[in-house]
Amino acid sequence: MTDTPPPYAWLDGRVVPWDQCVLHARSQGAFWGANVFEGIRVYAGGPGDDRLHAFRVADHLARLRQSMKALHMEIEHTDAELAQACNDLVLANGYGTDVHVCVVAYFGMGPHFDPLAHTTETGVHITSTPVGRSAAHEQGVAASVSSWRRISSDAMPTRIKAGANYHNSRLAQHEAVRNGFDTTLLLNGRGTVSEAPGSCVVMVREDRLVTPPGTSGVLEGITVATVKELAAEHLGLPLERREIDRAELHACDELFLCGTMSELLPITSVDRLPVGDGKRGPVTAALQGHYDDAVRARAGRPQWCTPVLPAREVVA
Ligand code: PMP
Repeated sequence: MTDTPPPYAWLDGRVVPWDQCVLHARSQGAFWGANVFEGIRVYAGGPGDDRLHAFRVADHLARLRQSMKALHMEIEHTDAELAQACNDLVLANGYGTDVHVCVVAYFGMGPHFDPLAHTTETGVHITSTPVGRSAAHEQGVAASVSSWRRISSDAMPTRIKAGANYHNSRLAQHEAVRNGFDTTLLLNGRGTVSEAPGSCVVMVREDRLVTPPGTSGVLEGITVATVKELAAEHLGLPLERREIDRAELHACDELFLCGTMSELLPITSVDRLPVGDGKRGPVTAALQGHYDDAVRARAGRPQWCTPVLPAREVVA
């Protein structure tokens, strides 16, 4: 992680200097968090491949459309234009390493400056920042069970990535860090496991992977969907979507966070009780390897990886 901003961002159709990627303080996007977004990873290829590859762009943009639909939001850009914009921005910033790209579709000011009024004024901003892998990728993280419950989908749509949803994530994450943990797991209103502040959670138990279903208040993760395919293909392990109760977090063999940003991150303790033997487990380690092959275009899923190309070579 770095605090030095990259030279460029993308705003409403143009690559712009980072400092010019701004929206008005009274826009609903800035004021209410009335926006929807996707985090997309762009990975350096494996040995002998000096290109960067964007991972599952089409799936992320499809979920962005679902998020927009839930908020009655329309934007001017097609998915092909947004994919091109991500490509152009990553190129402009001249990265040679792994990158995280945030595509945000936001609501503008609205009529009469009324923050509650529906508005057709919308825009898109895209920013990209370099990201590395921390030692936690091998060593694991300590999780608490949050005192905050995951927002319920009868209050806010939990299956979409709306900026405002992350107020809940933020409260939970900050509480966990204040209490000396790295991350936290939120239970839903029924008291069963939902997810972490910005990742899904997957448990390994009795030779299967288990993750809570969409009805547990989770964002249905693209990384979990990837892991499901990789686990079936390489390890012969099925992924089951069912409720997980709190006590099961202590009974399972392995547990890991699963998300675009966190990738597969071992959880080695929950509320200071070790998960398994308190170290990254063999299934998690094996899946991390297969995931790394997949995101760096080393494995056989070409449809998942879109190479970043100089503008004139991009096929729309
Ligand atoms: N839940 C939340 C709240 C998230 O923000 C994310 C990250 N997008 C995830 C789960 C994991 O989703 P994905 O694997 O699609 O990144």
